[in-house]
Amino acid sequence: MTREEAATFDGVPLTELFPELDAARHARVRAAVASFDVLRPAAHHTRWEWWREHVPRPEPQSRRGPIVLLSTEMMLGVYDDNFEVLLDIAWTSSGRQMSAGVCLRCWCRQDHGSHFAESFEADVPDAASLADAFESAAWQMRRWLGQPHSAAYWRAEMAVPG
Ligand SMILES: [Zn+2]
Repeated sequence: MTREEAATFDGVPLTELFPELDAARHARVRAAVASFDVLRPAAHHTRWEWWREHVPRPEPQSRRGPIVLLSTEMMLGVYDDNFEVLLDIAWTSSGRQMSAGVCLRCWCRQDHGSHFAESFEADVPDAASLADAFESAAWQMRRWLGQPHSAAYWRAEMAVPG
């Protein structure tokens, strides 16, 4: 059994999830996240989820899809055509990775599950790459959250059916 915990980013035990973070990089990560967490629509409560048992690199044979360490998502748009802006750090077959993106529901004739209108990915094997990735992702998150909060807008941008 895995145990999920959740809180605002202030409650995320960053130094337990990423023991390699020194004080300076820890501060950079907190500042990067704060720069986009404040842009969530007022009706949203900020929620980050994490799994302490996923801190050690998993054994290859135990992997079934990404094993998520830390994640957040923001549901935006109107209720019958909403979309998500997501960010997570997870173990994948190529190591620890950050990914972020604008995720739309698939309304194609053939069901793809979802579509990423835009996305950001970075390998984050160590403290330096982790701090850099949080800052790069934060730049993207601010840009995405600054676009119209409309799935129709993103569908038009990427030319997927509405
Ligand atoms: Zn589709």
